[in-house]
Amino acid sequence: MNPVGKPGKTGALMPVEEALERLLSMAEAAPIREQEHLPLAECDGRVLAEALVSTLDLPPWPNSAMDGYALRTADWTGEPLVVSQRIFAGQAPEPLTAGTCARIFTGAPVPEGADCVEMQENAEVQSDQRVSFTQALHVGQNIRPKGQETTVGEEVLAAGTRLGPIELGLAASLGRDRLEVVRRVRVAVLSTGDELIEPGLPLGPGQIYNSNRRVLCSWLQRLGCEVIDAGILPDDLELTRSRLGALGSVDLILSTGGVSVGEADFLGIALREEGELALWKLAIKPGKPLTFGHFRGVPVIGLPGNPASTLVTFALLARPYLLRRQGVEAVQPLRFEVPVGFVWAKPGNRREYLRGRLEHGRAVIYQNQSSGVLRSAAWAEGLVEVLEGTTLAIGDRVNFIALSELLG
Ligand code: AMP
Ligand code: MG
Repeated sequence: MNPVGKPGKTGALMPVEEALERLLSMAEAAPIREQEHLPLAECDGRVLAEALVSTLDLPPWPNSAMDGYALRTADWTGEPLVVSQRIFAGQAPEPLTAGTCARIFTGAPVPEGADCVEMQENAEVQSDQRVSFTQALHVGQNIRPKGQETTVGEEVLAAGTRLGPIELGLAASLGRDRLEVVRRVRVAVLSTGDELIEPGLPLGPGQIYNSNRRVLCSWLQRLGCEVIDAGILPDDLELTRSRLGALGSVDLILSTGGVSVGEADFLGIALREEGELALWKLAIKPGKPLTFGHFRGVPVIGLPGNPASTLVTFALLARPYLLRRQGVEAVQPLRFEVPVGFVWAKPGNRREYLRGRLEHGRAVIYQNQSSGVLRSAAWAEGLVEVLEGTTLAIGDRVNFIALSELLG
C-alpha cells in the first residue's frame, strides 16, 4: 500500500495521529544513511549514528565523595587513629596501613584496605594530630564504587539519540573526542504567495512581510538541519516548476502557503506532473490543509501559510518527520497534564492546539487564537491540546506541550 496515494475517507478529516503515522513511515522509507565522524564540539544538536559503548569502568576506581578520612571501620574502636597519608584527587594512594586512617579529599582514590570515608565535619583532630570520629561508621559510606556510572561493554547511548550538552558530556567522560553522527538533513524552504515580500523592503499595497521563512529557517537550524533558503515563490505555475527543478539535491522541500482549499494550487499541479501528491485535510486547528508528495523523487511537505498554522503543523508533523529521517526514535514531544484555568464551551471537530501559558499551575490561553496571529505563540509557553469533541470546565485536565520542547 502506498501511504502517499491512499486518500482519507471522503469528506472525513484525517486524525493527527494518522497523519503523523503516515509521515513517519515515509520518513523511515527514506532514511539519511551518510555519516560523519565529528569532533565533540561539532556534535551538538546532531544525531548519533553509532551506539556509544563504554570502553571504561567509570569511575575506574572507588573514590571519595567527601573531604574527610578514609579508614577500615573495624579499626575504629574509639581510640584516636594516626593519619598515615594524605590523598588528593589525581594521586595514586599507598595501601592503607592497618590501624591508621588517611586524610582524603573529594574525587581521590580510596586506598586499598579502607572501607569507609567519614566526612571531616564528623572528625575531631586531637592535639597530638590523631583523629577520632563522633558518629557511627558504616562500611561503604561516602565511597563512590568503581563502575557506578558505567562498566566496560555497557551501551551508554543508543544509535539515534539526539546529542545535547548532557550526551556530549557522557561521551567526553568516556574519553571520546569524536562521534559518528548522521549527516545533516538538507531542507529547502520555500515561501509561496504573491502577497509576500521580504523584510527590509517597503511594503506595497496588498503586500505582507514574509514571516514564515524566518520561523522555519531558524527553527530548522536549531534542529540541526542544513537549510537551503529558497526565498519567495510567486503564485505562478511556470515559476513553480522551474524553481522546484532548480533546487538541486535536497532531502526535503518544505513549503508554506498555497494549500488552502479553493486557491490555485501551483505546487500541487507541479507535483502531480512530476511526482505524486496527497492532499490531506487534517483534524487539526490551526492548520487543516497539508500537502505531502514528491517532486522528481524528492519528498515535499506543504504546510498551510497562516503563521500559527505553519508553526503548529511544523511542530507536530514536520519536526517528527525530520527527526525520524535521521533515525531518531523518540520524536514525540513530552506532554504533561495540567488543569485548565479557562472554559472551553464549544466542542470542535478538529484537535485544537491553543497557544497557552501556565499561570499558578493552570493553563491559560492567549485571547486571540486566530491562525493569522503569530503573537499568540510569542506570548505562549506551550500548546494546550484540546481533543476533538471535548468541552472544558475550570480544573479539567489537558495535555500541555512546552514550546521549548518543540523548538530544540
Ligand atoms: P495560504 O496558505 O497561501 O492560503 O495563506 C494563508 C494565509 O497565510 C494568507 O493570509 C497568507 O497571506 C498568509 N501567509 C502565507 N504565507 C505567509 C508567509 N510566508 N508569511 C506570512 N504570512 C503568510
Ligand atoms: Mg497563498
